[in-house]
Amino acid sequence: MITYDQCLAWDSEDPLKNFKDDFALPEDVIYLDGNSLGARPRKSLALAQEVITQQWGEDLINSWNKADWWGLPTRLGDKVAPLIGANAGETIISDSTSLNLFKVLSAAVSIQAETYPERKIIVAEKDVFPTDIYMIEGFIHLINQGYQLVLIENLDDLTETLASQQVAAVVLSHVNYRTGYLYDMAALNAHVHAHQALLIWDLCHSVGAVSIELNKTNSDFAIGCTYKYLNGGPGSPALLWVNPKLQNKVGQPLSGWWGHNKPFNMADHYEPAQGIRRFLCGTQPILSMSLIECGLDIFLNTDMQTVRDKSLKLTDLFMALVEQECAGFGFELITPASHQYRGSHVSFKHPNGYQIIQALIARGIIGDYREPEVLRFGVTPLYLSHADIWKAVQALKQVMHLGEWKQEKYQVRAQVT
Ligand SMILES: *Cc1c(COP(=O)(O)O)cnc(C)c1O
Repeated sequence: MITYDQCLAWDSEDPLKNFKDDFALPEDVIYLDGNSLGARPRKSLALAQEVITQQWGEDLINSWNKADWWGLPTRLGDKVAPLIGANAGETIISDSTSLNLFKVLSAAVSIQAETYPERKIIVAEKDVFPTDIYMIEGFIHLINQGYQLVLIENLDDLTETLASQQVAAVVLSHVNYRTGYLYDMAALNAHVHAHQALLIWDLCHSVGAVSIELNKTNSDFAIGCTYKYLNGGPGSPALLWVNPKLQNKVGQPLSGWWGHNKPFNMADHYEPAQGIRRFLCGTQPILSMSLIECGLDIFLNTDMQTVRDKSLKLTDLFMALVEQECAGFGFELITPASHQYRGSHVSFKHPNGYQIIQALIARGIIGDYREPEVLRFGVTPLYLSHADIWKAVQALKQVMHLGEWKQEKYQVRAQVT
């Protein structure tokens, strides 16, 4: 039996127990949705005020130099680098994950077209977060060169598709947004490379929650959100990483002036910058981008192994408590039990999932719902405690036991779920 006192004892030994103070969270909320929109770092308010009143208000256009607005994409990229196993100068922050996928997919396909022009298959997962599929479809339609999207349902499908020797590029979500399944990055890179294909990693649901070693695992390309586990703020620009061996081999079609080799020469024609800057496009939302730094700075005071260890402890605890407290309510765990294949959220299937999540939110327990029938609980080690997990599962038990989810008001779907 796990008890509340046991949870409190674990909390007292938690090396990250004070990190919650770095976040401004409402008192009466247990936030289990940091995998969708990270919480607000306390310091972001003061920084937003400084950017607006001092940098924009007082220094005006001088801030491009004085506050190094121009350097933000690479400066912040270098702060993300230790979280993804990259070196300085290899990562940028810019645009959205969707746009960044377009850029790196185009780069991967053009590298492949030089050596293996007959390869026309792009592989993605059937149950990936759909924007990845939509962007690949748009790309294939635009270039109109006979490329074909093949959607795989599992690793056997991937192996079979790779064996055709027709695959140019593969796009995989490092952690699945619905189930929380985590790929073995090194093994998948080796598998895909053995078939002369290139692999793009979507890190949206892993960066900031799972240890990532892009260089050590010989990855090709990576993209990912900063507004989820990195706590960059709603809609904050995304990360883009390219293996340094590939960076200068290839351009990308959104060839805006920020990616130009000499942007202030106002040259007649585009000439790509050396290195990762060529993956930039145009002027960035500086307000939003500036705030990413507050989220990243919190990670400077710990390391990804400590974060990962606590994430696994809390997801283990969540699973064990649902089994202990909520047996008989019909929750089916769809997140891998094995640590090796688990990201940082826990998901259950339940036919009344949507209503149950609404009833939990009314109790201040914020998780979310994803079609079909999936209740998703994001575990963010920086601001959640073992006691929080205990309280969340107790609330879930009460919602089920009292039948709270059956109330009329929880049946209506909101526009954003
Ligand atoms: C959240 C998420 C995205 C979001 O893309 P945006 O362009 O920021 O809207 C993309 N891919 C995956 C796998 C995600 O989880």
